[in-house]
Amino acid sequence: MTPTLVDPFQRAIRYLRVSVTDRCDFRCVYCMSENMTFLPKKDLLTLEELDRLCSAFVNLGVEKLRITGGEPLVRRDIMTFFRSMSRHLESGALKELTVTTNGSQLAKYAQDLASAGVRRINVSLDTLDEQKFADITRWGRLPQVLKGIDAAQEAGLRVKINTVALKGFNEDELFSLTEWCASRDLDLTFIEVMPMGDIGNEDRLGQYWALSDLRARLAERYTVRDTDERSGGPARYVRLEETGQKIGFITPLTHNFCESCNRVRITCTGEIYTCLGQEGHSDLRAPLRASEDPAHIEDAIRRAIALKPKGHDFDYSRQDVQGKMSRHMSHTGG
Ligand code: SAM
Ligand code: SF4
Repeated sequence: MTPTLVDPFQRAIRYLRVSVTDRCDFRCVYCMSENMTFLPKKDLLTLEELDRLCSAFVNLGVEKLRITGGEPLVRRDIMTFFRSMSRHLESGALKELTVTTNGSQLAKYAQDLASAGVRRINVSLDTLDEQKFADITRWGRLPQVLKGIDAAQEAGLRVKINTVALKGFNEDELFSLTEWCASRDLDLTFIEVMPMGDIGNEDRLGQYWALSDLRARLAERYTVRDTDERSGGPARYVRLEETGQKIGFITPLTHNFCESCNRVRITCTGEIYTCLGQEGHSDLRAPLRASEDPAHIEDAIRRAIALKPKGHDFDYSRQDVQGKMSRHMSHTGG
């Protein structure tokens, strides 16, 4: 029987998110500052180290692996890593291998991802307006991402669109985004903006659009039915009766989802964060580099999981942003 990683609060750890790079070809205003200093390459886990680390987690009972970043698909040779992970899908130990991407490289890689056993992907897209897209991503181009989404669907990948809800930015696109997703058979999840990292001059409280409000606006046009579907993560789902569409809401700031948290995150430098909203972390790179023996890294993983905290402290309810994290989302992986 596969061993199980269980934390001090009796939550089994089944889901691992791994950031494979802190670099990105976009500079989304809520995620990065325009002038980011990236980590020296030697600090990053090599693809071989990533393989050993992820394989150790799979060996300890992790069933779902999400590759993220930064932009995971800009990491050189990343397809080698995906192909290598597909052996755990074939053995049945891993149930799902997936990726969160900005879509810019999908036209190039969608087919390879599908061949490696990826079935579903998340693509981040906050607006369907070309100019607004250029503004919010600073460096991105909408047509390239739309082509990527086409390529993904042609390759047979199920695509979920992740949209960060931003006050005064995409409020007016709520229905057009929803309808576009329905017409393209794309799943859609809205994310509440989180206080992560120093992003320069952007006013984070000004960006905050509560999803309770977004949902109320959806209900003005559609019949919104709650579902009890859960992914073990922060997302909650509703169904729009008129379109049959499933819509997700990720509201880390207004709801507490920690009690059912089954996930941990690894940064591109091999730090494990057992909670997205806490600073506490352990280093897995040193044990990885100290020994090739899988038992060595598995012990380090078990020790890290024993420190998983009960929950996070994000709170916008006071006027100041409480529980703000100093690290960037691109470091931990969103
Ligand atoms: N580059 C890839 C992408 O954009 O999908 C993967 C990494 S990105 C950090 C993962 C997700 O985090 C994206 O959906 C992005 O919109 C979201 N994100 C980044 N910064 C955020 C923030 N401050 N609050 C909420 N979501 C954020
Ligand atoms: Fe890059 Fe994704 Fe962050 Fe945008 S959200 S800057 S695409 S890592």
